Amino acid sequence: MSDVQEAPKTRRIPAPATNTESLPFWEAAKEGRFLIKRCGECGKAHWYPRALCPYCFSADTRWEESPGEGVIYTFSVMFRNTPVPYAIGYVNLDEGPAVLTNFVDCDLATLEIGQRVKVRFQETEGGPPVPVFAPV
Ligand SMILES: [Zn+2]
Repeated sequence: MSDVQEAPKTRRIPAPATNTESLPFWEAAKEGRFLIKRCGECGKAHWYPRALCPYCFSADTRWEESPGEGVIYTFSVMFRNTPVPYAIGYVNLDEGPAVLTNFVDCDLATLEIGQRVKVRFQETEGGPPVPVFAPV
């Protein structure tokens, strides 16, 4: 009767693909710091980090530490064909960029567009931790 195994609470996340362009981001992630990039030419912030500004193509992009706070722009909750229900969606950071992410440590039934969230990091399978967001 009690042979049913308890499901894990969080979904396992595979190791992210990393490259030299994004290496500083992943190194900071290991320390729990969330980095974005800002363009020295047009002043706009972007994420994910790129060597060239996606707005004006300037190579003058600089790393900037972000508090990782913003609001949920949109999300989708997955209930079917998954051992653990989970939610993915976009967060609009206060600095401007949108981040595609997983939402964690929350009641999936009460997530709302416009809700304030903050970054945290979740371990992956054999790679650096990835940024995920939770309601504040
Ligand atoms: Zn720019």
